[in-house]
Amino acid sequence: MAAIHLSNPVTDLYGVGPSAEEKLAKLDIYTIYDLIAFIPWRYDDWSNVGSIGSFDMAERFDDNTGYDLSFRGTITTNPSVNITSRKKPLSFFVSDGTGRIKLTFFNSPYLSGKFSLGDECFIHGQVTLFNGQMQMVNPYIEKAEKITDDALVRPVYHLTSGLTSNNISKWVSTAIKLCGDELLSCIPHSIAEQKGFVSPKEAYLMAHFPASLEDARRAREQLAYEELILLGIGMKLYSSGHGIKEVAEQVIPSGPNAISRDLAARWNQIKSNLGFALTGDQTAAFRDVQTDLMSTTPMNRLIQGDVGSGKTMVAALSMLITALMGKQAVLLAPTSVLATQHYKTISGLMRNSGMEPVLLLGKTKASEKAEIKEKIATGEARVIIGTHALLTDDIRFKDLALVIADEQHRFGVKQREKLLFKDEGSDGTIKSVHNLVMTATPIPRTLAMVIYGDMATSVIREKPKGRQEITTWFVNSKKSKAIEEMMSVKLAAGEQVYIVCAKIDKDETEAGSDYLVGEPVGGDESVTSVFDMKKQVDSMSNLSQYKSAVLYGSMKEKDKLETMERFISGDIKILISTTVIEVGVDNPNANVMIIMDADRFGLSTLHQLRGRIGRGDKKSFCLLVSESRSELALSRMKMMCESSDGFELAEKDLELRGPGDFYGTRQHGIPTLRAANLYTDMKIATEATEAVNKIIEAGGQEAERLNEAIKKMFELRFARKMEQL
Ligand code: ADP
Ligand code: MG
Repeated sequence: MAAIHLSNPVTDLYGVGPSAEEKLAKLDIYTIYDLIAFIPWRYDDWSNVGSIGSFDMAERFDDNTGYDLSFRGTITTNPSVNITSRKKPLSFFVSDGTGRIKLTFFNSPYLSGKFSLGDECFIHGQVTLFNGQMQMVNPYIEKAEKITDDALVRPVYHLTSGLTSNNISKWVSTAIKLCGDELLSCIPHSIAEQKGFVSPKEAYLMAHFPASLEDARRAREQLAYEELILLGIGMKLYSSGHGIKEVAEQVIPSGPNAISRDLAARWNQIKSNLGFALTGDQTAAFRDVQTDLMSTTPMNRLIQGDVGSGKTMVAALSMLITALMGKQAVLLAPTSVLATQHYKTISGLMRNSGMEPVLLLGKTKASEKAEIKEKIATGEARVIIGTHALLTDDIRFKDLALVIADEQHRFGVKQREKLLFKDEGSDGTIKSVHNLVMTATPIPRTLAMVIYGDMATSVIREKPKGRQEITTWFVNSKKSKAIEEMMSVKLAAGEQVYIVCAKIDKDETEAGSDYLVGEPVGGDESVTSVFDMKKQVDSMSNLSQYKSAVLYGSMKEKDKLETMERFISGDIKILISTTVIEVGVDNPNANVMIIMDADRFGLSTLHQLRGRIGRGDKKSFCLLVSESRSELALSRMKMMCESSDGFELAEKDLELRGPGDFYGTRQHGIPTLRAANLYTDMKIATEATEAVNKIIEAGGQEAERLNEAIKKMFELRFARKMEQL
């Protein structure tokens, strides 16, 4: 057999077949390294072994709560099932000399073959009272000799259905045995020594198979160091040219009389095309950009603002001022739908300014493309809007000075690097462009530091005036009349409706969506798909008269755009879609959004989706439809009903479930972190990355070692995944 390495697929491990492969992929685990890095998210501590008799029933059983108990005991009644009715639960008694307890197992007939009368066992479970008798339902049971005292801290993994923590433990154990020695440490010796860190192999063993909770904690700490160094430094090493002085063009001249009367007049024309006054936050953000554009140090700025806060306007004005100054500006959008919309907005703003924008998409006809490219090359086109089609090598700019990326995290890492349009000058400097990034996703400081480096931030918190608040209701049944009524009232008034579904059809979810598995109560079959919904709408007496259409990611680009356009023009009244409409679609006449199976979406997605409505002057309603009774899902719905502020939601979400949803790394184009917590580990991130930076700058043996280790591990752990995101 060929040697197995960290980069090998998980299927190279004995026992991991195609079905397991699929389930592991859902957990973002593809390689052996991914599996090893998948450390438990918590541990059950069974090390406190007790006895049945020490359990004071009178004191404990005043309510229906169960109590955890671990103990060793002997099976005292025959654990065999009735062959004729294997569906019946299996029950038998266990005694430990201080008392006896009844164990009941549902759906576990295989147990009767495994255990026999007289066996010594280790048992862990919840004790409850049934007809005055102590019992445990479906406890963990194992032959006593197999359970040593140092295996009593049990790892619990975040799992997808069909996998158990035991499966993972077994595979991880093999994986570490086979390739644990390939794991390189990315932590400086000085820190490792001071903290008493072990080798990465030992740390992973400790995290997966801890002898105590204290060991597990220590392992997690060490691995958090590894992870944050890997991400923070790895990112930089991975994108080239770091540390060399970069210069960009000074776009806006400084000093008095630098701007001619003619230019000032054209600028005023553009501002009057706006049709509204900028909000205070928009003005401040635009001023930040203008200041940056007066310098030859490349701008590296992030505009962070909730959906609908008016970021696009700031971006548009930044492009237009650049164009007025005779230089070129590019706006990149992650989808053609969004790019087309930006193009329309900006065309409107440029009316009578003597300039015209160009739009370049992947599907633009070849002849037209050639024409646009020519215009870009000659400098005739100065306001350039498009998708990543603009990042191909055959596009030559005359005088590119500003690049703006909308929702930049939706671009892959390689594409992002291209976004910087770096060019090596003959004098050893690097010619760069001014960079502006817009995002509606709040970014934790740690993550911002890690992925955007020293990026400056402008925050737009204020909403444009005259916005109607969106009223959000929770609807706890799909059959509720409220849904149909809400739609028919608004449709009758000439308004339009979005319906969002968690699935495209029975089996398919939207690629890249944060569809939640495992947590909601209803099975996957109960989820209403886009196609189910289309059928339902077309058969409802109140709704069938209105034209409806479906929209989802895997449709042909042309069909998607056409559907969007027909919805925006008012031809289609009801748009039934997946989360593809999450970003950017702007139809001020659509004032109702029905989100089916709302429990299947994370808070950030729900909030982004809801941002599609409330864009006009009519009252808007968002109906969150969910039949889930999960407490977590219900509290999420409650938050959505109570708040429409994305920043506030993000904070609440963090309280509710810790980093991972709003603050998930995925939304920023980074694979899931396993050990580090982007909130609580800020100190580790700063301390560790600073130390490593210093060492690498100073050079020498340790610098070389770290450089090599970080590059190699980053490649294994993050780089390939970032390409896929
Ligand atoms: P974002 O990109 O932050 O989601 P947009 O820039 O697309 O937000 O703005 C959302 C909507 O609000 C657009 O229809 C836009 O024309 C409008 N808008 C933006 N700024 C203002 C403002 N200052 N006053 C009134 N409407 C505005
Ligand atoms: Mg936008």
